[in-house]
Amino acid sequence: MDPQKTPVILGLEGTAHTAGISVVKGSEILINKSTTYLPTQGGIHPREAADYLSKHYPLLLQEVINELSINLKEIDAIAFSRGPGLGPCLRITATIARALALYLQKPLIGVNHCIAHVELGRMITPARDPVVLYVSGGNTQLIAFLNQKYRILGETLDVAIGNALDALGRSLGLSHPGGPNIEREASEGKKLLLLPYTVKGMSFSFSGAVTAAQRLINVESVQDICFSFQEYTFSALAEATERALSCTKKPSVLLTGGVAANMRLRQMIQNVADEQGVEFHVVPKHLAGDNGAMIAMAGTLMYKVGEFVEIIKSSVRPRWRTDQVKVSWL
Ligand code: AMP
Ligand code: MG
Repeated sequence: MDPQKTPVILGLEGTAHTAGISVVKGSEILINKSTTYLPTQGGIHPREAADYLSKHYPLLLQEVINELSINLKEIDAIAFSRGPGLGPCLRITATIARALALYLQKPLIGVNHCIAHVELGRMITPARDPVVLYVSGGNTQLIAFLNQKYRILGETLDVAIGNALDALGRSLGLSHPGGPNIEREASEGKKLLLLPYTVKGMSFSFSGAVTAAQRLINVESVQDICFSFQEYTFSALAEATERALSCTKKPSVLLTGGVAANMRLRQMIQNVADEQGVEFHVVPKHLAGDNGAMIAMAGTLMYKVGEFVEIIKSSVRPRWRTDQVKVSWL
């Protein structure tokens, strides 16, 4: 291994709804393909999501092999999302990763999915040592780096913000995923309806707001419900982010995860950053949600410090928390 050379890493993302495969060389994305399971009704069913992944990985891999501009032999390592996530999905992804590592005779790298969202942001935006607001379908955390670990400063005490948006969207008859549809409806809303607002220190909770908003269905307009729900829940995220910036004195804030695509949330966190006098960075929309490139980029950093996992020891970690990872690459 030549430490001066930028490695070429193949990354596999498959913690829940998305099967993603990407090949990166540093911050350069050579290819990035994904496909996402959409439940026909209700939320994500773990077994159905895993079946979807197992059916679609071979097709996706074939596309990647066909379209990749470099030879497969030039890939230096295989990185995969080892956790946290839905057990059945993680196991499918790990199996593909192990098979690829064996076939190509390359090392395997087990990446923490939440940290991958952070590392992609650090690699493709100017953020270097930010407070991270990570908002997605399955996780919502405020994260900052201290003493070789990404610390969780605050997090949701019940459901993730994306999950809350999707649940409310379903109740309103909007199609899955609810987040973008709620954003569209909210842009037409005017009346601020009273909803629960819960911030405890740097943590927050959303299920009370979901229940209260559901009770307003058929009483108030869909647009006003969506508008109010965004205002209340995003304000809670903004307040906690402000506190995190004030406590840590970090020089920037980074917004990442699928819900980072939301323009109203971006605006609120931008305002917080401006008031605190720190930089605001957000990942581009097409890389905000789960994708293989983020796994490959975190894998790149781990590759450089030789953070590999033997196949025999590469079991998945469905409950792997952000602050359980010893960050040896920083
Ligand atoms: P992830 O789990 O990171 O892939 O993100 C998926 C989540 O992002 C889902 O809950 C979506 O509803 C949510 N999402 C995607 N686009 C938007 C948007 N424009 N506004 C709010 N939520 C969004
Ligand atoms: Mg995610």
